[in-house]
Amino acid sequence: MPEYDEIGPEMVVNIYHPDLNVHGFVVIDNTGLGPGKGGIRMTPFVTLEEVEKLARAMTWKTALAELPFGGAKSGIVCNPKTIEPEQKDAIVRAFAKALKGIAPEKYIAGPDMYMAEHEMGIIAEVLGPEACTGKPKKMGGLPHELGSTGFGIFHAAKVGAEHIDMDINGATIAIEGFGNVGTFAAKFLTEHGAKIIAVSDSKGCASSPSGLDYEKLIEIKKKTGSVTNYGGCSVMPGKDIIFADVDILIPAAIPNLIVASDVNNIKAKLIVEGSNIPMELHVERLLDKKGVHVVPDFVANAGGVISSYVEYRGGTEQEMFKLVENTIKKNTNMVLDHAEDIRKTPRKAALEIAKKRVLEKCEVCRKIYE
Ligand code: NAD
Repeated sequence: MPEYDEIGPEMVVNIYHPDLNVHGFVVIDNTGLGPGKGGIRMTPFVTLEEVEKLARAMTWKTALAELPFGGAKSGIVCNPKTIEPEQKDAIVRAFAKALKGIAPEKYIAGPDMYMAEHEMGIIAEVLGPEACTGKPKKMGGLPHELGSTGFGIFHAAKVGAEHIDMDINGATIAIEGFGNVGTFAAKFLTEHGAKIIAVSDSKGCASSPSGLDYEKLIEIKKKTGSVTNYGGCSVMPGKDIIFADVDILIPAAIPNLIVASDVNNIKAKLIVEGSNIPMELHVERLLDKKGVHVVPDFVANAGGVISSYVEYRGGTEQEMFKLVENTIKKNTNMVLDHAEDIRKTPRKAALEIAKKRVLEKCEVCRKIYE
């Protein structure tokens, strides 16, 4: 059962397709600021509880980024690695058909784990171009493959580093996950002088104290399917990346990556959350007590939804990069400053600001809240 409060969730939809034997969920958390915006995730382990938390994170993320969207999220329970591409397309098509009447009126879909430009193209074919963002360029889209989220992560990391007197040029980095977010974060960080010491994907973690070359990582991942085949470096279990001896750790794959018992062994001074919910709130609090600065997910990884907004408005690639840079810089600074002022964690500070914005604009929730 979802946990309801003054914000939502407004709508929880279960979708089951007997022929394809696949089920999924759509959670529309809050539409006070506009239609619920949120990606579709396809993983074998996605649960309704996870999708609810992600939908709420989207409510805060769109509010903080001052976008005319609410918060939502979808999950399809399926292992995309064990099915043929045609089967995946059929599942995405069936899921899109089940969204008729909901999208784009109350929900605008987008990419997330194992759902990208191609899948958004299928959704747009079924429901029309307004039903999703992250579509192929030929359909009027600004695909997430342009790297908007990773670009925002780079700016959040730069601002976060400045707050602790660290220069991004020369900073050492570990990145968990080498998909859309991880690869582009790596690209923009290395272009600005940061050194990648460790990278992981679902097969494990590759690490070298002398650094890993970005171009070679991309080539190896493309050719062999995993960064662990980099060669001439240590290969460890994927989870070990969180203990890497680096300045900045960037989680960019799975939820709940870091748990309370990991905190003592974390060496990074700054964690920039590229993935959504890479740790529970109490773990962030423990890290904060330890003196590790955490830029929360909905502050740092808003680049994708900002890009979605520019696409929705019919804007260009250049406009997108400018808006991502300006918004992420402004918000990371604002949240870190506010956290210092109120002596709370950056997440608490960010939530305070985002919640105020939702309640100011959402008449229904304000009435309940008052
Ligand atoms: P993606 O599918 O492009 O890449 C996922 C990566 O994670 C792959 O490299 C995969 O190998 C790796 N991975 C899977 N299991 C792993 C494990 N156990 N350990 C290490 N790596 C593992 O996904 P993405 O779009 O990069 O999304 C990653 C995270 O960022 C998700 O939490 C997503 O919600 C979040 N996010 C994405 C965007 C976006 O624009 N794509 C925006 C905001 C937040």
